[in-house]
Amino acid sequence: MASRDHEVVVIGGGLAGMYEIKRLTDLGVDAVVLDANDDLGGTWYKNRYPGSRFDSESFTYGYSFSEEVLDEWHWTEQFSPQHETLRYLNFVADKFGLREHMQFGCRVDAMVFDDDTDTWRLTLDNGREITTHFVLTALGILSIPSEPSIEGMDSFRGDSFHPFDWPDELDLTGKRVGVIGTGATAIQLIPEVAKEAAELTVFQRRPNWAAPLNNAPISEEEMDEIRARYDEIFATCARTPGGFEHEPDRRCFHDVTPEERLELWDRLYDGPGFGIWLQNFVEIFTDEDANTEFSEYIANRIRQRVDDPDLAEKLIPTDHGFGIQRVPLETHYFEAYNRDNVRLVDVSDNPIERITPDGLETSDAAYEFDVIVYATGFDAFTGPFDRMEIRGIDGQRLRDKWADGPVTYLGLMVSGFPNMLMLAGPQIAATNFPRGAELAVDWSTPLLEHMWQNGYRRFEADADAEQGWVDHVAAMYEPLLLRTAKSWITGYNSNVEGHEYGKMRLNIYNGGGPRYAARLSQVADDGYQGVTLT
Ligand code: NAP
Repeated sequence: MASRDHEVVVIGGGLAGMYEIKRLTDLGVDAVVLDANDDLGGTWYKNRYPGSRFDSESFTYGYSFSEEVLDEWHWTEQFSPQHETLRYLNFVADKFGLREHMQFGCRVDAMVFDDDTDTWRLTLDNGREITTHFVLTALGILSIPSEPSIEGMDSFRGDSFHPFDWPDELDLTGKRVGVIGTGATAIQLIPEVAKEAAELTVFQRRPNWAAPLNNAPISEEEMDEIRARYDEIFATCARTPGGFEHEPDRRCFHDVTPEERLELWDRLYDGPGFGIWLQNFVEIFTDEDANTEFSEYIANRIRQRVDDPDLAEKLIPTDHGFGIQRVPLETHYFEAYNRDNVRLVDVSDNPIERITPDGLETSDAAYEFDVIVYATGFDAFTGPFDRMEIRGIDGQRLRDKWADGPVTYLGLMVSGFPNMLMLAGPQIAATNFPRGAELAVDWSTPLLEHMWQNGYRRFEADADAEQGWVDHVAAMYEPLLLRTAKSWITGYNSNVEGHEYGKMRLNIYNGGGPRYAARLSQVADDGYQGVTLT
């Protein structure tokens, strides 16, 4: 056996990486987590912008694996804010002593597979080298912020940053702030920034459909009820396509009266979380007519909330229907535009041309700011892999293999890249993130155990099986209106070369959590069908 530093390296110490290291260390395996950040938490360590919180009900977001954690942890809000979620992850790490298996400030620049020894050699940005038998990536799907390249960005005299890198000590009191972008991140931070800043200017290229989060505190009594229901909650999450407690309305859209539709939509709009998206009629996602009628309903709700009718129209998307892109949930987003200190600048026809020392210029006006926030999204899914030099058999680069979009087997492995598993990579089921991450960890860990128990040294996805999976992923996009989305889900990002609209990238598995879980079980039960073990 070749000597190596570790049996397993997990890259990424967020939610998925933490659960994986828990399982591996329970098995007594020599494993370590490497994380580029200074501490654990991944997404929840980084996204500290005002208003940052889940869109998932807190109690469906937590880990399900530990009765003790479920008994001891008290979520204080239906939709937990970032600081509480980070506290939760620290609580879990401390409880199970996970930190002693985690190394921070360790950015992996390269990993190269050695065909002779079946090991990976990792190189960190400080030159340190680490060898390991297996690599499990838990890089996050939205962990590489993508800022635009606009002339003059370096010349700005004030503070400018992506919300992913929001400065801890930033005080916006009395400041003039410009926010570029109106995605889920901007939609969370705009109402909060509006309360603090002297002036807030939002630069919108395309409006996004958004609906109320309807957050609320969770009392001690309510938390007791939640604890008593945890088995049922997780069973429901496992049964529903999106991994939430929200179950689709199974009535056919066309079989119910307009009054009945309205009754459902009013209830969902005023209800919590993704109900408005996931408890809706299934036809909203597949049928143009149903989607158009529902989008008009949401448009009217927006019109009721924005005082200036012209401004309301600017905030209503016209290029896509509700739910085709990932729906941002908001708290007083639309009302923020009723404030005197907030203005919306439509840059769809007047793009931002340059950043100046004092602010920015569009094609028809100049604006002065103390702070510019680039809420311009992420190089999603493949971005974190592309940033690393990952070389598999015969020196093949993963970045090259994925040039036109990700290609995987089950979203968990890649043919030509043996002994590598992805716990939060592309083409896993699009579900409430922790539910999918637990599924990935609970499938990957037994695969490794199976290898250790049977003396296997190497696993690799078969090329045919991989192609079969990619075809299946593509087929699952087919009936959905979302295949037309100009969104990170379909691989669009105007700030990343090669990610133009129309070049569809199969980033997610749209078949739903239950179908995905069944497939994983079936593959394992059939002796890891589609995977060669040697
Ligand atoms: P996003 O949805 O990709 O939005 C990026 C925004 O920036 C879009 O409005 C985009 O406009 C705009 N933009 C990009 N480049 C621009 C440019 N050069 N000039 C002008 N505008 C530009 O990114 P995000 O808001 O960070 O959200 C990404 C995902 O993160 C969400 O969909 C969600 O899944 C996740 N997220 C989750 C939560 C939560 O759970 N609560 C919170 C925040 C984010 P176009 O639309 O025209 O491209």
